[in-house]
Amino acid sequence: MNSLDNKKNSNTIKFIRDIYSSMDDFIPLHEPRFVGNEKKYLLDTIDSTFVSSVGAYVDKFEEMMQEISQTKKAIAVVNGTSGIQVALRLVGVNIGDEVLTQALTFVATANAIAYNGGKPVFLDVDLDTMGLSPNAVQNFLEEYGERREDGCYNKKTGNKIAACLPMHTFGFPVNIDELVKICNNWEIPVVEDAAESLGSEYKGQPTGSFGEVGVFSFNGNKIVTSGGGGAIVTNNPALGIKAKYLTTTAKQPHAYEYVHDELGYNYRMPNLNAALACAQLEKLNWFLEKKRELAKKYEEFFKGADAKFRTELPQTNANYWLMCVELESRNARDLFLKETNEAKVMTRPIWELMYKLPMYQDCFKDEQVNARFLVDRIVNIPSSVLNTNILN
Ligand SMILES: *Cc1c(COP(=O)(O)O)cnc(C)c1O
Repeated sequence: MNSLDNKKNSNTIKFIRDIYSSMDDFIPLHEPRFVGNEKKYLLDTIDSTFVSSVGAYVDKFEEMMQEISQTKKAIAVVNGTSGIQVALRLVGVNIGDEVLTQALTFVATANAIAYNGGKPVFLDVDLDTMGLSPNAVQNFLEEYGERREDGCYNKKTGNKIAACLPMHTFGFPVNIDELVKICNNWEIPVVEDAAESLGSEYKGQPTGSFGEVGVFSFNGNKIVTSGGGGAIVTNNPALGIKAKYLTTTAKQPHAYEYVHDELGYNYRMPNLNAALACAQLEKLNWFLEKKRELAKKYEEFFKGADAKFRTELPQTNANYWLMCVELESRNARDLFLKETNEAKVMTRPIWELMYKLPMYQDCFKDEQVNARFLVDRIVNIPSSVLNTNILN
């Protein structure tokens, strides 16, 4: 063990303890903050008896999400994973179809493909965005892609390439312009896994609004939370209507009859959760500001250090949901993880690459040079809005 690294890590631990004003408590990676109308809105749902799958807060949440994501239609759903599942079905992903995505992601991205009977095709990420690489997509399509009358096919496997599903890692926007351009060329619809990137922008436009469909998550660990929940957003009104229909048991409107004319889902977000989400969304700009302040503190601290703090790229605004540093090597990463966690300052490595998981071992993958580089070096550090900020 290198005693110099040891010293650096203890400085980092001290700095994090200082900014969270916590001398010995466990410091989690990310915890929610409730500083607005949360209690008031939750009590409203109880007083009104509308706690379940319909209610005024669900409608209000959908309106707020349309405005925040600058899209024509937002649909509240029970969680982000089911939102991505439905989004892929909306753009036509069917059993046996291939979906281009990144191996460097949270498991929900790949699972949502598999729930539709689709096959993930794992392509590399860019080192700077940590999200799906337009070059990797272009290279794959040049080698395997074939345009036919009803879309793009993989000429080696014969399967349809039915969608492309990039993910905005930790809230840092992927190079979405290039991805959409390439996919349009090949007639492949883009679905954005924007679960982590609520409030992030690419060239001034909200993430989630570039593809045919985008999906956000409101899980307890995300930048704002509904307890559990998600939102599907789209600028295509017909897809918006279809999304609402599919996620509410595919029921045809009727005053009293039960007419379900397709296989639908009960993926509604309860009004109780929507109430919490509305209160949190009212404070979204506050969260974004406080995250940015914290990011600035980390940026200052890590200036000149071996661990490089990741900042947003030009032409993007990151929401700084989960902040991260890039260590020099796998060994330096392992030591950092060990020492911080032993000191009860929670840090986590980036995810295991999807093709290493038993259920995705047989999927296609490219060389993954960048993804493997990042897995060896990237570590998430505590990113909750500082407790000292709660009163401002
Ligand atoms: C959180 C997350 C999801 C899933 O959202 P849930 O609301 O937890 O189902 C999907 N994709 C990514 C990348 C996520 O981080």
